[in-house]
Amino acid sequence: MKASAGGYARAQDVRHALDLLAQSDGQGRILAGGQSLVAAMNMRLSTGDMLVDISRIAELSGITVAGDRLRIGALTRHVEVGGDPLVAEHAPLLTQAVQFIAHAAIRNRGTIGGALAHADPAAEFPACALALGATIHVQGPDGSRDIAVEDFFEDVFTTAIEDGEILTALSVPLAEPTEAQVLEEVARRSGDYALAGVCLVRRASGHRLSLFSVGSVPVLATATMAALDAGDLDGAVAALATEIDPPSDTQASAAYRRHLASVLLRRAVARIGDQRT
Ligand SMILES: Cc1cc2nc3c(=O)[nH]c(=O)nc-3n(C[C@H](O)[C@H](O)[C@H](O)COP(=O)(O)OP(=O)(O)OC[C@H]3O[C@@H](n4cnc5c(N)ncnc54)[C@H](O)[C@@H]3O)c2cc1C
Repeated sequence: MKASAGGYARAQDVRHALDLLAQSDGQGRILAGGQSLVAAMNMRLSTGDMLVDISRIAELSGITVAGDRLRIGALTRHVEVGGDPLVAEHAPLLTQAVQFIAHAAIRNRGTIGGALAHADPAAEFPACALALGATIHVQGPDGSRDIAVEDFFEDVFTTAIEDGEILTALSVPLAEPTEAQVLEEVARRSGDYALAGVCLVRRASGHRLSLFSVGSVPVLATATMAALDAGDLDGAVAALATEIDPPSDTQASAAYRRHLASVLLRRAVARIGDQRT
């Protein structure tokens, strides 16, 4: 089936994109890498949108260190995140994530901003952002604002980005010298969306654990984190069972996802190697 769009305009810069969104009577839809949006349009899950193509806005791409944070522009493609030395040094969780995202054609076009804005609960980057304690930077007609990642994901495919706003970047704290970051997931085939996945970060201040594909949004498992901080892995696994409410679908039952989550937590902890059982 062919995609259905209400119109198309290519934005020259962020100001132009914001103007195009403002002029679109609520029908404006940002087109970044198109890897999720065009698929939805082809299936007529998204119709009548006025597409505002931001894909050529150079100021939205790139990876920099600014002070004590790593900043990644929204239009930075998955393949660029995966191969970037600054990301590998300062946020290796994102480097690990890229190898699990879809296949090469999608990684060559898909953008990290698109993945965050799309807010698929089975996607890797949203859960990574949550585990890393990212800040999401957006710009709208009235200026810029920063959103703590804990407030960003509201429901399936729903975020705190408001109509007329553009996600411009995310930033994460630079990894400490002794920090550990690991991602573990299980998918039916290489490149498929995960049946369940975990992102574990250990900092001097404590652990951060997020899970994906176990609910309507990525989950920050705070009770599990507290048990990990206490060095109690069995307690952490028990806590995790109370913190997730996974769905059953054609891919896996809720019980199987719950089982996978506990196995993946143990695997992630084994890779970090600091817990007693
Ligand atoms: C077959 C297939 C398999 C896939 N497998 C995986 C996978 O295993 N793991 C995974 O994480 N992802 C997977 N994806 C999704 C892929 O990572 C997408 O690239 C990503 O989710 C969306 O990025 P995009 O740049 O293509 O966004 P687009 O498709 O262009 O946009 C997606 C949504 O985000 C909005 N948007 C995009 N950019 C912005 C912005 N800067 N500001 C505000 N709103 C914005 C759009 O309006 C749209 O609603 C898969 C996709 C396909 C087609």
